[in-house]
Amino acid sequence: MEGIHKFLKAAAEELHRQHQRVELFAEVTLKIRRSLHLKEILQTAVTEVQRIFQADRVLIYQIFTDGTGMPISEAVLPNYDPILGVTFPEEVFPEDYRQRYAAGRVQAIDDVRAADAGLAECLIAFMDEWSVKAKLVVPILQNFKSHADGNSERLWGLLIAHQCQSPRQWTEFESELMQQLADQIGIALSQAELLENLEELVAERTAKLRQANKHLQQEINVRRKAEAALRRSEEQLRLIANGLPVLIAYVDKQQRYCFNNEAYQTWLGLSPAEISGCHLKKVHGKDDYQYIRQYVEAALSGKTVTYERDIPLQDGCIHTLSITYIPHLVERGDLRAVRGFFALTSDISDRKAIERMKDEFISVVSHELRTPLTSIHSSLKILATGKLGDFSSKGQRMLHIADEQTDRLVRLVNNVLDLQRIQSGKVKMNKQACNAMDLIVEAVQTMQAMAQEQGVKLLLKPVNFVVWADRDYIVQTLTNLLSNAIKFSPPESLVWLLATQQRPQYITFEVKDCGQGIPHNRLETIFERFQQVDSSDSRKKGGTGLGLAICRQIVEGHGGEIWAESRLDEGSTFYFTLPELLE
Ligand code: ADP
Repeated sequence: MEGIHKFLKAAAEELHRQHQRVELFAEVTLKIRRSLHLKEILQTAVTEVQRIFQADRVLIYQIFTDGTGMPISEAVLPNYDPILGVTFPEEVFPEDYRQRYAAGRVQAIDDVRAADAGLAECLIAFMDEWSVKAKLVVPILQNFKSHADGNSERLWGLLIAHQCQSPRQWTEFESELMQQLADQIGIALSQAELLENLEELVAERTAKLRQANKHLQQEINVRRKAEAALRRSEEQLRLIANGLPVLIAYVDKQQRYCFNNEAYQTWLGLSPAEISGCHLKKVHGKDDYQYIRQYVEAALSGKTVTYERDIPLQDGCIHTLSITYIPHLVERGDLRAVRGFFALTSDISDRKAIERMKDEFISVVSHELRTPLTSIHSSLKILATGKLGDFSSKGQRMLHIADEQTDRLVRLVNNVLDLQRIQSGKVKMNKQACNAMDLIVEAVQTMQAMAQEQGVKLLLKPVNFVVWADRDYIVQTLTNLLSNAIKFSPPESLVWLLATQQRPQYITFEVKDCGQGIPHNRLETIFERFQQVDSSDSRKKGGTGLGLAICRQIVEGHGGEIWAESRLDEGSTFYFTLPELLE
C-alpha cells in the first residue's frame, strides 16, 4: 500500500515538474521570440536560465572559426567574477571537444574535481580560476543553408551553467531544458542571420532603387528640357505661320485638314479649330471641291502643283489666289510614299492688276505703233522703187537698212500683239479636224523662200494623222520653229519636219536641224518672253525673242506640250504635241 502511495506521489511530482518545465520553457521561448535583436535574445536566455536554475553563473560562449572564442552574454551572481569579455585561447577549448559538441554532446559535470569528471589538470586549474565547482554545457547549433547539401548545422557556441558555491547534481530536467533553450537560441541565430541578410538585401535594393530613381529623375529633367525647347520652337513656328500673309495648311492622305494657320480665319472666315480634322469637301463645299480635286489628287500622287483661282474673301472683294500643293514625301526603303501635302495660298491680286495694266499698256502702245509703222514701211517701199527719184548708192544702202529695221519693228509689234491677244484669252482658237500633212506642207511652202535664201534644204515625210487644231495658229507655230531652224543652221544643211505618234491620243510634231545647238541650261528659258541664248541674235538674225513664247501659248491653248532637245554644235529638235482626232 505504501509502495503504491510512494509511486503515486513520485508520479504526481514528476507530472508537476513536467508541467513546470513546459511552462518555463514556454515562458522563456516567448521572451526570446519577442525580440529580433540577437544581443537581447541571448541576454534573456542567460538571465532566465540563471533565474530558473538558481545557478551562480550562466553564460553563452561563442566559438569562432579559428577555434578561439569568448563569452558574449552572462548572468552571474554578484559574489562571483564575471567572465564576460575574456578571450579564451584555443587550447582551453581543444579541437576534439569542439567536434563532440558539434555532434550534439551535452556535458553535465556535477563536480569538476571528481575523478569521473575526466577533466584535464589544466582545465581544472582554469575552472578554479573562475571558482567553478559544477557545470552543465550544451552546444548551440546553428542551422544554415549550404550549397553542397542544403541545410546543415554548425557549432556556433555553448550555453553554460556554472555552480560556484558547491558541486551540483544536474537533473535530467535541467539538462533537457538547457538543450531546448540552446535549440531556440540556434533558431533565433538563423532568424537573426536571415534578418540581417534581408536587411542587407533591402538596403541593396533600396540603393539600386535610389540609383534608378536618380537616373529617372535625370531623364525626366532632360525630357522636360527637350519638351520646353520643343514648345518654344513650336511657339516660334506658330508665330511665324500665323504672322505670314499667306494661308498655310497641311492636308493628310485622307484629304483631311491637319493644320491651318490663323490667316484662314481672316481671309475665309474659317477658324483653324473648326477646320481641323475636316475633309476638304466639307470645308470647301461640293462645287469647289469638284474643281480643286484634280490638283489634290496630283499632289497626293507626289507632284507639286500650282494653280490660280479667283475667290471672294472676307472683305467682300474677289481676290486672285495662287495655290501651291507640295507633297509630303517619306522614304520607306527604296520606296517613296506620300503622307499628305502642304498647301500654300498667297494673294496675287496686286501682281495680277499690275500685269493687266502692263499688258494693256503694251497692247495700246503696240496698236498705236502699228499704224505709223505701216505707213513708214510702205513709204520706204515706194522710195525703194525709184519712182520718186533716184538715190545715190549710199542713199540706197541707207534706204535698205531703214526698210530692214522697219520690217523688224513691224514683226516685233505684231509678235507683241499676238502674244498679248493669246495670253489674255481674247482670241478664240478655232479648232477643227486638220490633216497633219496639210499643216506641214503649208508651213514648208511658207518657209521655202527663206530656206533657199539660206541654202538650207527642207525635208518632210508623208503622214496620215488628223489633229484637233486651229489651222492658222498651228501653221504659225510650225513656221516659227522652221524659221528658227533655218536661221540657226549652216548653209547646205538639212531641216526635217515630221509628225509621229509617240503616245496614245497625241501626235508629236518635230522640227529638227543640224545647227549650232542650244546650251542645256537654256532649253527651258528660251520659251519665255524676250529670252535669247545670245543677245546679239536679235540683231544678227533679226529675231524678237518672242517666237517660242507665242508657240508655247498656242500649243498649250490646244492642250499640248512643247519642249526642245539639243546638242551643242550638232543641232536641235523642237517637239510639240496636239490631240489626235480619232475617226
Ligand atoms: P527669236 O525671234 O529670237 O528667234 P524665239 O523665241 O523664236 O526668238 O527663240 C528664242 C531663242 O532661242 C533664239 O534667240 C535662239 O537663241 C534660241 N533658238 C530658238 N530656236 C533655235 C534653234 N533651232 N537653234 C538654236 N537656237 C535656237
